[in-house]
Amino acid sequence: MATTSKTKNNTLKLKFDTSWNYAPAPESKSIAAIKDKYDLFINGAFVKSSSKKHFKTINPANEEVLSEVADANATDVDKAVKAARTAYDKVWKKMSGKERGKYIYRIARMVQERAREFAVIETLDGGKPIRESRDFDVPTAANHFFYYAGWADKLEYAFPNRKAEPIGVAGQIIPWNFPLLMAAWKIAPALATGNTVVLKPAETTPLTALKLAEIIQEADLPPGVVNIITGAGATGAALVNHPGVDKIAFTGSTDVGKIIQRAIAGTNKKATLELGGKAANIIFEDAPLDQAVEGVINGIFFNQGHVCCAGSRLYVQESVYKTVLRKLKDRIETLIVGDPLDKNTDIGAINSKQQLETIHKYIKIGQQEGAEMHQSSCALPGKGFFCRPTLFTNVAQSSRIAQEEIFGPVLTIQTFRTEDEVIEKANNTPYGLSAGVWTDKGSKIFNMTTKMRAGVVWANTFNKFDPTSPFGGYKESGYGREGGLHGLSAYVNLI
Ligand code: NAP
Ligand code: MG
Repeated sequence: MATTSKTKNNTLKLKFDTSWNYAPAPESKSIAAIKDKYDLFINGAFVKSSSKKHFKTINPANEEVLSEVADANATDVDKAVKAARTAYDKVWKKMSGKERGKYIYRIARMVQERAREFAVIETLDGGKPIRESRDFDVPTAANHFFYYAGWADKLEYAFPNRKAEPIGVAGQIIPWNFPLLMAAWKIAPALATGNTVVLKPAETTPLTALKLAEIIQEADLPPGVVNIITGAGATGAALVNHPGVDKIAFTGSTDVGKIIQRAIAGTNKKATLELGGKAANIIFEDAPLDQAVEGVINGIFFNQGHVCCAGSRLYVQESVYKTVLRKLKDRIETLIVGDPLDKNTDIGAINSKQQLETIHKYIKIGQQEGAEMHQSSCALPGKGFFCRPTLFTNVAQSSRIAQEEIFGPVLTIQTFRTEDEVIEKANNTPYGLSAGVWTDKGSKIFNMTTKMRAGVVWANTFNKFDPTSPFGGYKESGYGREGGLHGLSAYVNLI
């Protein structure tokens, strides 16, 4: 609850009574039908892995095992790629766009119909707040299928005066931060353009991709058009190195992106790589400050900071620095960290123990580098992997917390005086995925967007996504674009 008091210079100050708690509002788990064991989805059927090995996927909010999932090795990858090749040659590339579109629409509608189940499973398996999986991940995933279903019979309009031919078999590898949404980003444009797919979800979040496999089976998609194989990095590497794969679509870390680039060098394989980020969020003195602060909070604490385009570096114009910092400190004190299934929760669980350790490592580095840390005083649950929202001030541009991707709820705050100075600072990282600008002045927005080396620049908002807009990076954030028309062109050869 907020109360007000007068400060020395007689302005009103908002004070938050943090002892005031919301009554718990947990979403029921009962809708989530999770099997004890999952096999691989190859050629339209769930089949055992050749090693017969399974690995556990846990709920990071309480460390309980949710299910055991088959571990695909190179033999299984080979089976999946061969199934995709046969489906491509015999069925999918010959099918008319109109017919392909019908299947994709069907998948879109089925994702929508089972939205609640998907949202609960996404939250259980990955730790993200139910509000996000319910209001963002699942609807946006369905929208991607709808959007690309619409293009399937209109490729001649997408690429006027050219003939768009599919590339063949796409090997798709996705991370754990948006498991269902990343699967939709990858599968929908590939199918719309006539390619077939072998998709590997991340080891810690395989469940919604496997649910999607069930839907794909129910939708009667011809066997082999989409294959979903689970496993860890080695499974991904086997897919990348398989000679039967024509295109790699990868979303993940810059380190693995570089490994993939080396692995496919000298082959005919095409690739799109969506990699890490270190986005700058920039507040000018003429910005609507409350709105900007809310945008910054959303930009870095949304999904625990597990967002490649998270606004992890904040630059504030000197004249408003004190005000912005006070507002940010007040605001993080009100953020609710805890049970991801609770509809009040703002910050859920960190995806894995390993990721929590990485975040803690960076928090320590920040302190050792001489930056000043401020954390929310909230209590953390006794079990599971959680991290308090954390701010760092007095940060040097060269410090590791300002240069390296942390992928957690940690924000560095620096100041600037002029536009040129902040452009220089914002561009001074190896990454270039996204950025944000907060100002009342349109000309400043145009100046900034043209000079910032970032694939997406949001103005007076942050982390907004739409299937119709392209997304992708500069520099070490990767190459190629997903979403919109650009996303289609990554899956076709134009003749
Ligand atoms: P990661 O370690 O690179 O893993 C990504 C995927 O690649 C996972 O499925 C992983 O399997 C697999 N993989 C690991 N080693 C591999 C190898 N040698 N060959 C082929 N595949 C391999 O990244 P992450 O930690 O899961 O995800 C976080 C990263 O993704 C961050 O850097 C973030 O910025 C980036 N990201 C980028 C975007 C974007 O659009 N640019 C979007 C989301 C996330 P396992 O998980 O089973 O090990
Ligand atoms: Mg999990």
